[in-house]
Amino acid sequence: MKCSFCGYEISKGKGLLFVKANGTIYSFCSSKCKKNLLKLRRKPRKIKWTSEYRKEKTIKKKASKSSKTTNK
Ligand SMILES: [Zn+2]
Repeated sequence: MKCSFCGYEISKGKGLLFVKANGTIYSFCSSKCKKNLLKLRRKPRKIKWTSEYRKEKTIKKKASKSSKTTNK
């Protein structure tokens, strides 16, 4: 299972499950992630320590690289 906020794998027996009133299920690796998503309403994309942020960064890097190589 992966954390709904940071996107990292949660080992069995760890983390916490949160069910919203509308039935949406969130799984968090820590209360830190829970706070960030539910209380602070932060977006994982904008938080440096999430895998979502890293993904976007690497994608952007790759995109800029490929555009350079194709510019002949
Ligand atoms: Zn997390």
